[in-house]
Amino acid sequence: MVDFLWEHLAWWPPTLLVCVGALISFLEARWPRQSNDPARTRRWPVNLGLYGAGLGLALWGLPSLNDAAIRWGSGLGWGGIAGSSLPDVAKVVLGVVVVDLLQYLLHRLSHAVPLLWRLHQVHHADEAFDVSTSVRHHPLEVAALSVFTLMGCAALGVPVLSLTFYLLLQVAHTAFCHANLMLPAGVDRWLRMWVVTPDMHRIHHSVHEEEGQRNFALVFPWWDHLLGTYRGLPRDGQAAMRVGLAYLRSGPDTGWWGSLLLPARRFRESSAGLQPQAPLPPPSAS
Ligand SMILES: [Zn+2]
Repeated sequence: MVDFLWEHLAWWPPTLLVCVGALISFLEARWPRQSNDPARTRRWPVNLGLYGAGLGLALWGLPSLNDAAIRWGSGLGWGGIAGSSLPDVAKVVLGVVVVDLLQYLLHRLSHAVPLLWRLHQVHHADEAFDVSTSVRHHPLEVAALSVFTLMGCAALGVPVLSLTFYLLLQVAHTAFCHANLMLPAGVDRWLRMWVVTPDMHRIHHSVHEEEGQRNFALVFPWWDHLLGTYRGLPRDGQAAMRVGLAYLRSGPDTGWWGSLLLPARRFRESSAGLQPQAPLPPPSAS
């Protein structure tokens, strides 16, 4: 089964994402957390187009890059988790948890390192938050994260089964945690003990800088609690909070071409990162 999934890596993650995405989209229409986005017909082709570009790059150049990353990590000859004396089940579970911790750390680096932020800002540039946001990534960010993740996994000896299971989990979960979906408060509270929920992750997409520096976890929320980056509620409330990047609101084009070229644009940088170029407009009454 694992061999089958790795051999067909080019098609099953997009297929799973389309299936889960269609279900989430149906649920968003019935139980939206925020009022319907009037720019949806403009945003969705851009977000899906960026996903297509990432997929094209992945099919064209990623296999050889990924092989090199795995060879580099494996060359350390340490054995890591797979080479330990733990029972097989424990190795697989530990491997899944370790991959998610790696994702949390890479996500924090994507906000802290200016070069990586130039790529990651494309994801945060979305002016609304729904299932299509989950696939809005710059193709070079997808490639970079894939290579860094595989280097880390190979270096730590993460079992292939753990990586396969995590990929299945993450593909489905990323569509869920970006959903514009109203979950009952009790369900959200219970789920947050185990996975990142849409209300938790939406805070990370807030226009307010201090909220954008919170809730970095991708699948398991524990890292934000353990490493002091958790925030439970947005200051403007879930229904009224605005998402996106203040410095892009009245500035450069964030359409398909504009998003692809966004990392190359010149921004005023400081030790605090890329700075807003325009003041945030006042919130609309809602
Ligand atoms: Zn982020």
